[in-house]
Amino acid sequence: QSPDARAANIPRYVRVNTNAWSLDTALEYLASQGHMLQESLEGSHEKIFAKDAHIPNLLLFPAQTSFLEDTAYKSGKFILQDKASCFPAVVLSPPKNARVIDATAAPGNKTTHLSALMGNTGKLFAFERDRKRFGTLSTMLFRAHCKNVDPINADFLTVDPEDPNYAEVTHILLDPSCSGSGIVNRLDYLLETEEDNPDMEEDRLRKLASFQLTMIKHAMKFPKISHIVYSTCSIHATENEHVVRAALESDEAANGSFVLAPQRYVIPTWHRRGLPNEMGSPDDAQSVIRCSPGEDATNGFFVSCFVKASKKRKTRE
Ligand code: SAM
Repeated sequence: QSPDARAANIPRYVRVNTNAWSLDTALEYLASQGHMLQESLEGSHEKIFAKDAHIPNLLLFPAQTSFLEDTAYKSGKFILQDKASCFPAVVLSPPKNARVIDATAAPGNKTTHLSALMGNTGKLFAFERDRKRFGTLSTMLFRAHCKNVDPINADFLTVDPEDPNYAEVTHILLDPSCSGSGIVNRLDYLLETEEDNPDMEEDRLRKLASFQLTMIKHAMKFPKISHIVYSTCSIHATENEHVVRAALESDEAANGSFVLAPQRYVIPTWHRRGLPNEMGSPDDAQSVIRCSPGEDATNGFFVSCFVKASKKRKTRE
């Protein structure tokens, strides 16, 4: 399949921004615009839409539907975000009033999603090291009505885990730079990645993997961390299963008692899990999510969640 053909198979995903309005009000608005809610996108009417089966507040429209002139989109009430890109914040699901870090935030799709899941309460520290992308992040946070986010133009690796400002942080989202090899040709998604080169050579992938592992190990050093979600928009095991395996074998994981959250905690109804041969353990492979471009009506993606060993038992109950 060509990238264009694969893109045509991806619905237009629209996330209802619950910082701005409720799902019910959004559905009423869509009905007033002539859109018809159905069980699925099957059907001939071009103004149909459906609710996503896995992500709350996510709606699917036919791929050609444009929201660029829509008043709800322009006022930040709708956020155009691929389904796979919605998995990380939902897996992390920080509770209301939590202290949270988004370590690699721009342009801010997952930051705004986390903010909404936290009910615009607590504090979300959003790091972005690139100055220009930090500007994009700040604009997006304003448009998305985020009142609980503190954007910080800094390199997450320079943040001292012992800094009292972050002493109460319990959840970290890590969606670092990656090869972008899972990305199908869609503009809103390209903004999230800095690179889009499926033919990336092994050497570059290894360098990215080394950086990604350093980021996870740094996150594991924060004193009160109980949950770390690590995600990429890559299809390469080098950046996904191999990085997770190395993180699990690290001193930082041993010191912090980190293990992978069990499958039932990581969107268990999603069918495509990690690659067992690359992960080394079938159980660990079940604990992570993959999305396959062209097969899952999403871009290619990978999501994993590290938890403190004691939390693993808790999430099983
Ligand atoms: N999570 C974002 C979203 O959903 O919109 C996409 C993040 S993009 C894949 C990775 C971002 O991390 C880039 O904007 C990059 O500049 C930033 N970044 C990379 N290394 C970083 C670091 N050490 N500290 C802070 N930001 C970093």
